[in-house]
Amino acid sequence: MSETDTAAQTFAERLAAVRARVAAACARAGRAPEEVRILPVGKTHGPEVIAEAVEAGVTCIGENRVQEARQKAPLCPSGIEWHLIGHLQSNKVRPAVDLFCMMHAVDSLRLAQRIDAVCGEAGKTMPVCLQVNVSGEASKFGMPPEDVPGALESAGSLMNIDVVGLMTIPPFTPEPADARPFFRRLRELRDRSAAETGVMLPELSMGMSRDFEVAVEEGATVIRPGTVLFGKRGGQRGGA
Ligand SMILES: *Cc1c(COP(=O)(O)O)cnc(C)c1O
Repeated sequence: MSETDTAAQTFAERLAAVRARVAAACARAGRAPEEVRILPVGKTHGPEVIAEAVEAGVTCIGENRVQEARQKAPLCPSGIEWHLIGHLQSNKVRPAVDLFCMMHAVDSLRLAQRIDAVCGEAGKTMPVCLQVNVSGEASKFGMPPEDVPGALESAGSLMNIDVVGLMTIPPFTPEPADARPFFRRLRELRDRSAAETGVMLPELSMGMSRDFEVAVEEGATVIRPGTVLFGKRGGQRGGA
């Protein structure tokens, strides 16, 4: 689909198209479509665009910057579940805990401990995914795969966070299908870590606009499409 087509459609039409592609990927992988949640990523898009998504039935939105989400949320329809999908700096944990209902990119035990402490004060329990750098690229956030079991063991004693799964951003590859080994690695790491530690890790947060079908085939339970739903981000900074 070309970008002009994307622009010509309504949000509801684009959402229906993504749902159909998720369903087809599920069918190929022998999975049920209900196993995959679509988390539309609204970064850089304004409240009126988010409102159109809510109108189309969206109930959760992903954002990668705390400050942007904090400014936008009060201007958006109420009742949205905001998910933090980007790197979290320790000095922004407090406002992040206030707004978000789930954090997808917890990339160190230290950050997990900080979130736990703030959640304790706020009387909240935060579901989180550990972000894993499965490719080993130096430019990527995320803990090395070998650190995951230890982090899970330690996080087990934190009473105010709940590690529910793993998240990854694969390296950019010219062909979306080339991201498959990285998604597969995350799933295998999840399976291994869960078996080793006894921590249930139902969620695999993986797959963006260009590669969500591959991610679904490899077991994604949450996909994070932005551009394919909201259109191009107008010249603003992109990924986390
Ligand atoms: C921006 C972003 C997305 C969405 O990217 P698209 O390519 O627009 O689908 C998903 N996940 C994270 C962590 C992001 O920062």
